[in-house]
Amino acid sequence: MATTTLPETEIEKTERKSATKYVYFFGGGKADGNGKMKDELGGKGAGLAEMTNAGLPVPPGFTIQTDACREYMRHNSVSKDVDKQMEEALAHLEKLQGQKLGKGDNPLLVSVRSGAKFSMPGMMDTILNLGLNDQSVESLAKLSNNPRFAYDSYRRLIQMFGNVVLEIPKSAFDEVFDAKKKQKKAKLDTDLNAAALKEVIAEYKKVVKKHTKGDFPQDPHEQLVMARDAVFRSWQNDRAKHYRRINNISDDLGTAVNVQAMVFGNLGETSGTGVGFTRNPATGAKEFYGEFLLNAQGEDVVSGVRTPVHILELEKIMPEVYNQLREITTRLEKHYRDMQDFEFTIQDGRLYMLQTRNGKRTGLAAVKVAIQMVEEGLISKEEAIFRVEPNQLYDFLVPRLDEKSAKIEVLATGLPASPGAAVGQIVFTADEAVEKAGHGTKKNPVILVRAETTPEDIHGMEVAVGILTSRGGMTSHAAVVTRGMGKCCVAGAGDIGVDEKAREMRVKGQVFKGGDWISLDGTTGRVIKGKLNSLPPKADDPELQTILAWAEPFRKIGVRANADIPRDAIQARAFGAEGIGLCRTEHMFFAEDRIPHMRTMILANNEKDRRAALKKLLPMQRADFMGLFRAMDGLPVTIRLLDPPLHEFLPKREELMVEIAVLEATKPKSPKLKDLRTLLRRVEELHEFNPMLGHRGCRLGITYPEITEMQARAIFEAAVAVSKEGVKPHAEVMIPLIATVKEMAHQGGIVRRVAEEVFKEKGTKVHYLVGTMIELPRAALVADEIAKEAEFFSFGTNDLTQTTFGFSRDDVNKVLPTYLGEGILKQDPFAVIDRDGVGELVRIGIERGRKTRPNLEVGICGEHGGDPSSVEFCHQVGMDYVACSPFRVLTARLAAAQAGASDKLKVEAGRTK
Ligand code: PEP
Ligand code: MG
Repeated sequence: MATTTLPETEIEKTERKSATKYVYFFGGGKADGNGKMKDELGGKGAGLAEMTNAGLPVPPGFTIQTDACREYMRHNSVSKDVDKQMEEALAHLEKLQGQKLGKGDNPLLVSVRSGAKFSMPGMMDTILNLGLNDQSVESLAKLSNNPRFAYDSYRRLIQMFGNVVLEIPKSAFDEVFDAKKKQKKAKLDTDLNAAALKEVIAEYKKVVKKHTKGDFPQDPHEQLVMARDAVFRSWQNDRAKHYRRINNISDDLGTAVNVQAMVFGNLGETSGTGVGFTRNPATGAKEFYGEFLLNAQGEDVVSGVRTPVHILELEKIMPEVYNQLREITTRLEKHYRDMQDFEFTIQDGRLYMLQTRNGKRTGLAAVKVAIQMVEEGLISKEEAIFRVEPNQLYDFLVPRLDEKSAKIEVLATGLPASPGAAVGQIVFTADEAVEKAGHGTKKNPVILVRAETTPEDIHGMEVAVGILTSRGGMTSHAAVVTRGMGKCCVAGAGDIGVDEKAREMRVKGQVFKGGDWISLDGTTGRVIKGKLNSLPPKADDPELQTILAWAEPFRKIGVRANADIPRDAIQARAFGAEGIGLCRTEHMFFAEDRIPHMRTMILANNEKDRRAALKKLLPMQRADFMGLFRAMDGLPVTIRLLDPPLHEFLPKREELMVEIAVLEATKPKSPKLKDLRTLLRRVEELHEFNPMLGHRGCRLGITYPEITEMQARAIFEAAVAVSKEGVKPHAEVMIPLIATVKEMAHQGGIVRRVAEEVFKEKGTKVHYLVGTMIELPRAALVADEIAKEAEFFSFGTNDLTQTTFGFSRDDVNKVLPTYLGEGILKQDPFAVIDRDGVGELVRIGIERGRKTRPNLEVGICGEHGGDPSSVEFCHQVGMDYVACSPFRVLTARLAAAQAGASDKLKVEAGRTK
């Protein structure tokens, strides 16, 4: 095909024509965009466009799309096109409103708000009242006939603009404001009159000058450009980055900016502002839920300076507005076919909708709302199973607050760092926690409230029922430690001031002392005043069972649990586990009564002594296995032979050296010294520089075959014994850390020989399999060879990730935060499977293994087995099952069902974000 060269003017025209549309207008009953354009307009912008098109009362404005933000991130500025299109849209807005931005007798004022594709509540920045300056504030005062309102709006602008755009600390403004309140003996912000607010403005301007060496910008257009760019920058602030990481939102999306004509909720007693949900986001109950404040602007509701009123009260105060709001929000819910989270403002008795989006909700609410919506005919059962995020099912396994047990006053909302509920009395230090809690008896429930926790607080954290911090994120010390403890934690509740010296917690103008009761909801991050009741977990909740019953027919892969003791196995089975995918037998050796025998075994310097010590361990192991077989009657129990290096069972080298040195100095004749020296010698012999890559896994069983023999004997004797009780044992004996087929043949040979010996001795045979973990890259690559000897594979993706990346599992946290922060890695590969690298090895391993043995059973037992996205991957690569800790079994079941359903229904595994 011949190429024609266009004349230059044509090129220009074409380029101009095809140039990106950066700015989308909405107003006057129609919008350039629509509700489907979340990628470009963000959730808020798409919602505003959709509401405008639906004829709802939305203040007009325009959305600058996410492409401009991405451009800003690349070049630190936006292209001329963005500026041009923005000015055009502003002119359009001015024409529609019959006003000019910040000019004239009736100045146009706008809000400038962020809005990304997925909602990131409170993570990015907002500026209200933009367009006000020394002149327009006077016009506003005249026009509204309310100078107090005008000056209050102006001081808010300087404060927000100063903080967000000029990066002046909030506290610099707070100090001025608080001092003025004190000086005027004002209790509430609203007690300051126009004259006092004028003084505040003058002092705010000084704050700006002091921090920026410049004046607060008076030109409204300059204000707008600066505010827009600041909102773009806020996409990159630490809070936003952090939020994206924990919610799996890509850093590359960028935010849109919504510029919208201001409506005022603070014009007097016929004005107000509020937020709400079409159903209760904590419980899912079908009730109008939310709060509002009369004579206030949006930030007053959120900041908690004044206590908002329940939304139902609006019916009494302004019945018409209330009815209109109900009608609109009901329509919105029907339109979006999901629970809505909305914002509204009433200006002089007139209702305006500022936002609507699918509301965030707890796991309990997600399940309830999904079922209700099926019953109401709004969604299908297939859609309903995607309305619950698999991780949310964890909410059914931890205690919850009884929302009905008392009036709920939310003091602050922090990060939901560790789920569950905690109700207790405030303490401010770890020592106080120990004392108040009753010295180890945990008689009195206490909540440890700190600015942030440090390792020195551990003893207090242990006895507390919950932890609350005012600083720190989802990976802060408090968050990480409490999650490990399975304890409720709300972290980074920034609105709370913790004064450890004065032993006071200050929030919403209230002061809480040690001993005061508070309740924490670790699932939503709410800090609630007073003593609520807590409700026990409800894994057998009928609604949960309903959703699972809809979901499970789609599930193709099995879900097993990682459990080492019968109690956990029973628990896991109650959650629906279909067997044990990993029993780590070393946990049995670590038990207090077994360690001495283990040590004797390790210290033995000949095989005979070693066997004698192992013989003592045999009945203990056998009893453990019998318990597991009984708990999993009829289901597979995968038992892994001893994995960790032997020195882990011995005391620490440094501690021994100290003990010896002390004895030498104090009791040089002590007979204990000889034993200690022998022990130290053995510890030193066993010492390794890289134990994770050392004498562990099958390497132990190969160098000490008697260990494998003993374990195999304990397994088969247990299996035979329980089978005589009528239990059906299905043992799957798993050899760890295999790299070559010969290792597998060696260990498999021992297991099979011992099995035959036991069956002969006992006169009974039981079914069993011998297989391996695939946790080294080499094993995945030679899986076809290994499958000649292994009847099943279980991917140990913890070690496979460690050895594929060359990251130490135990030390990776030294580099991981930087890697995540820099975007070098998108996710923690130890939590979410790295599909490109580790995942590729898994794919290869399965393909090659099944080439040799088409019916090879394949599963996963690394941490990834309980992570929804990794479960989806396991489904896609054709595994037979995933295995995870008991508390993630429900999550894995739903994630596996969603993966199966999205295959079948050809829907994107879309979650309610
Ligand atoms: C693994 O490596 O993925 C695994 C399950 O084994 P462990 O975590 O015990 O090393
Ligand atoms: Mg491993």
